Amino acid sequence: MNAIPLHAANPGPFTGEGNWTYLIDGAVPVLIDAGVGNVPHLDAIDAATGSRPLHLVVTHAHSDHISGAPAIVERRPATRLSKMPWTERDRDLPWQPLRDGDVIPTAQGDLQVIHTPGHAPDHVCLWHATSRTVFVGDMLVQGTTVMIPASHRGSLLEYLQSLDRLLALNARRALPAHGPPIDDPAALIRHYIEHRAARESQITAALQDGARTIEELLARIYPALQPALAPMARESLLAHLIKLETEGRAERIEGGWASTNRRRR
Ligand SMILES: [Zn+2]
Repeated sequence: MNAIPLHAANPGPFTGEGNWTYLIDGAVPVLIDAGVGNVPHLDAIDAATGSRPLHLVVTHAHSDHISGAPAIVERRPATRLSKMPWTERDRDLPWQPLRDGDVIPTAQGDLQVIHTPGHAPDHVCLWHATSRTVFVGDMLVQGTTVMIPASHRGSLLEYLQSLDRLLALNARRALPAHGPPIDDPAALIRHYIEHRAARESQITAALQDGARTIEELLARIYPALQPALAPMARESLLAHLIKLETEGRAERIEGGWASTNRRRR
């Protein structure tokens, strides 16, 4: 798979160095993710594809992946638009809805749509079986973990199930929206699964010791946290608590959370 990385030119506090989008050239070039509509990105798309009709495929409706779509359509009104629906977040554009298992044709062979909810409910990965390459959007980022925005339709349980699905592909290479290409996706996925399991053990132990609130968990599990990172850590803790609640291992009580194990003892 020869995918041309096109940077979205959007570095910032939430995107790090900014987003990578990927162009698969051909008679109808396929662009994976829209960026944010910054002019250098739009110019790079034009330079790479000329006047050929474009097929834009968006991995999920977080703004650094979708908000450039209107600007792309403004420059190139014939652009075909595809994504899995998330109606509250999808911009007012004529998206063709993607479903799990759909196939997107490219000049280098088909991409298979794999629904991978968890980071976002509409998140999809795109699998190129011929080269064992997977476009992973925000499912994987080399060198860090992935935010599960529990207050905004993120789900740790679904994310872990999606990681299992990605692991089963046995991909040779993963191309993420943030950071460099990932040459050993299985190693990173296993690291993620172990990391979440270790965090979950810390949280269940803290609950059994009587920690009740997210602030108590935060102080115990992230003792040296920089204040700027606290909101993300709170979301991560909430994501774990909701997973434990779904599994019947934690419950909401007056003023916080409790382990169901502890109560039964
Ligand atoms: Zn995202």
